[in-house]
Amino acid sequence: MGVTGIAPGRVLVVGLGISGMATAIRLRGLGWETVVVERAPGRRTGGYFIATFGVGQAAAKRLGIYDALPDRTPTGDSVMYEIERSGKRRKGINLFDLPVTPKPELMLRGDVEQALFTALPKDVEVRYSTVPTKIDQDSDGVDVTLHDLVAEADTTEHFDLVVGADGVRSTVRSLVFGPHERYLRRLNYMIAAFELPKTPATMRIGDGAMLNEPGRSMIVYPFKDHLPTALFSYRTDDVDAEFTQTPAERIRAVYGPPPYGEILAEVIDDFAAADTYLFDSVEQPHLDSWHRGRVVLVGDSAWCPTLYSGMGSSTGLAGGELLGTVFEEHTGNLEDALTDWEQRLRHYTNNFQSMGTKASSLFTPSNQAGILARRAMMAARRSSVVAPVVNRAMSKLPMMRIRGTDIAAATRAEVNA
Ligand SMILES: Cc1cc2nc3c(=O)[nH]c(=O)nc-3n(C[C@H](O)[C@H](O)[C@H](O)COP(=O)(O)OP(=O)(O)OC[C@H]3O[C@@H](n4cnc5c(N)ncnc54)[C@H](O)[C@@H]3O)c2cc1C
Repeated sequence: MGVTGIAPGRVLVVGLGISGMATAIRLRGLGWETVVVERAPGRRTGGYFIATFGVGQAAAKRLGIYDALPDRTPTGDSVMYEIERSGKRRKGINLFDLPVTPKPELMLRGDVEQALFTALPKDVEVRYSTVPTKIDQDSDGVDVTLHDLVAEADTTEHFDLVVGADGVRSTVRSLVFGPHERYLRRLNYMIAAFELPKTPATMRIGDGAMLNEPGRSMIVYPFKDHLPTALFSYRTDDVDAEFTQTPAERIRAVYGPPPYGEILAEVIDDFAAADTYLFDSVEQPHLDSWHRGRVVLVGDSAWCPTLYSGMGSSTGLAGGELLGTVFEEHTGNLEDALTDWEQRLRHYTNNFQSMGTKASSLFTPSNQAGILARRAMMAARRSSVVAPVVNRAMSKLPMMRIRGTDIAAATRAEVNA
């Protein structure tokens, strides 16, 4: 039996998102001198709706942030309505209200990031407006050229490990593994997500709304103690063309022609006026390996399952946390540790990516038949007679159980078996 634990050194974490901060907290705790660089000029706040499933809750507990995560699941008589432009409404269900144990908790992405940032040890150095532009490595370490976007100055620094936690269009991945086109698969969906400045006028505070039309949907997600967020999701055959107009122009065109109906019209106007929003194509990276030498990808940069799976932030937390656990317990070298870490996660992330692909048509049905099938499923899950049977059956499905799994605990049992 060798020495336990990968010897700590100096680590560069690229990206101050959920995966980057989870990794930084864990590695700093093991004694790594930790530098985080972030492209944005400051920390992001707010964001869109996310569900944190058991996969993420277990990791959050070990990271010491679970108690700081607010559960904003609407309580009491909150109703998610399926709406039509005509003003017609019928009761539906929240798509992430799934029969999973433990119960998923609803919050904003910014809630998770705030909890992680608060837990980030003060001696972790965070540099904003900074991006890597060159990464060279040999067996002794990694030389990274960092570009300061404000000072417009470059420095080259030496690290023992580089963690690319810089999202689905990862610069670290493109510098070390190859261009985006080699790894990213487009799902041919676009999304736009933002925080609403107010509950739409014709909606009751605390209620939600879903508009489903062939190939396009819009959802207003309600929260407890917070204004709602909105999500547009639509199919496209030409992703590149989506970026040739402003996001507001695209949304008006795709959801047109008017009349939009009261709620959709108001949400579109709010989107057009929003300072901060996400407008992007939905893509998944697929790589045979997430590490090359001393460079490793964590989170969306490696395995982005997409919003349709609802597992991206949960696996970002779990992946970053597990990297620390594997480093702490490993008796081999860095390469072996990264290989083992990856093997422990793969089964889960493959499943979540596959869920993301399949669930895209549940989120945004492509035709009327899909809309009716979804409506029937929702009706079954709302019926006091049928719902207990359906929920019990659903809760036994592998795709449900896996969302609630503590990956580190489950795979430790496999390692020790
Ligand atoms: C609308 C929507 C709904 C979602 N719902 C859910 C849900 O219900 N449940 C769930 O678990 N997940 C959900 N997700 C997914 C989840 O939000 C992401 O998977 C998760 O936030 C990914 O975190 P990350 O840290 O890996 O990447 P990101 O959040 O993309 O963070 C990457 C960070 O790196 C920075 N960066 C990028 N490039 C560079 C560079 N070159 N140099 C330095 N810094 C850089 C970025 O500015 C950013 O701060 C949803 C996503 C969306 C869009």
